[in-house]
Amino acid sequence: NEPLESVDPEIAEVLQNELDRQRSTLEMIASENFVPRAVLEAQGSVLTNKYAEGYPGRRYYGGCEFVDVAEELARERAKSLFGAKYANVQPHSGASANAAVLSAIAEPGDTILGLELSHGGHLTHGMKLNFSGKLYNVVSYGVDPETFLVDIDVVRQKALEHKPKVIIAGWSAYPRTLDFAAFRAIADEVGATLWVDMAHFAGLVAAGLHPSPVPHAHVTSSTVHKTIGGPRSGFILTNDLDLYKKLNSNVFPGQQGGPLMHVVAAKATAFKLAATEEFADRQARTVSGAKLLAKALTDDASKAAGVDVLTGGTDVHLVLADLRKSELDGQQAEDALHAVGITVNRNAVPFDPRPPMVTSGLRIGTPALATRGFGDAEFAEVADIIAQTLQGAGDVEALRARVTSLAEAFPLYPGLENW
Ligand code: PLP
Repeated sequence: NEPLESVDPEIAEVLQNELDRQRSTLEMIASENFVPRAVLEAQGSVLTNKYAEGYPGRRYYGGCEFVDVAEELARERAKSLFGAKYANVQPHSGASANAAVLSAIAEPGDTILGLELSHGGHLTHGMKLNFSGKLYNVVSYGVDPETFLVDIDVVRQKALEHKPKVIIAGWSAYPRTLDFAAFRAIADEVGATLWVDMAHFAGLVAAGLHPSPVPHAHVTSSTVHKTIGGPRSGFILTNDLDLYKKLNSNVFPGQQGGPLMHVVAAKATAFKLAATEEFADRQARTVSGAKLLAKALTDDASKAAGVDVLTGGTDVHLVLADLRKSELDGQQAEDALHAVGITVNRNAVPFDPRPPMVTSGLRIGTPALATRGFGDAEFAEVADIIAQTLQGAGDVEALRARVTSLAEAFPLYPGLENW
């Protein structure tokens, strides 16, 4: 029963250093967030000790009476939050949820049609080194070279041409909303299954700030740790009972063994919190902050420095900075922001003229700072710091000092030590 600090001081130091890093910098990686203390507690709990292969009431292990309650709560809350008839809350991650989805709705060799990775799609939507690219015949749609928007007519043409078994809507880097009803009409026209991966924007959907895919998609998958701000993990929703049964058997025993019951419990807590007014307010601040950032990165000073934003703005929680005309490439811009204490990731822009390790873009997200408490005033200040950094204007030390004062004004996990 010795504490971590004495059992393993090296790992204890990693935890402390990471907590200090999270506290002292501004986290703007679009896929990251800060879980509430309640989620940390549920996830760092004795439920990690329990094997629970199977589903509530039908387990392959004894002693599941309490973890059954946790999984039932997670399922019920997920269903009610997203208005879905059925939910599977066991996927360990977004990628494992997606593996289960694809294995439930397609056979190896079948054709799948999704958004191209370099245009904002995800690895699990058909990247060639991923299981999805290895097992399935992948065809992709991209964004329009002028507008950088998904053109639904092109999606339809590709669907008519390739007759895919599965059409995938969803993205990791796209600043606008998709027309899920139109995707469903195309899927129906060609006899495909529509799978929406809402990993990124699920929190916005829960708050009613983004169209919901659930009424349109045959199956919807998601992560819990991005805009929702819950534990690192995944879940799957559907309104179709037969498909639900298939999805269940493709999660367990298809893709996974025992569910991570500590994570399932933490998901239940995250879904409970996602039904609150406070959560809706946080999602509203998230979108509003992203819009303020887009405004700063498209103003005259930014444009003069070759900085712009793909599609001219955003409807969601992220902005895709376009640095094709800037002297800074994506790598240099990421490093420049790191130097002032802002963490982002470089990101290829569609049709990127620079190599993939360098890129001409940045993906900048607001969910973690909204969780920290930022509102419009703070986001306007962050937007100005980012714009100045990318424009190569302003003194690095002075910009770093502005970041530090924002970080200090919104303490992360106040009172929490040694985590
Ligand atoms: N789907 C989308 C759209 C994503 O952006 C991601 C994560 O980046 C995933 C799935 C995979 O989630 P995970 O990293 O939990 O496997």
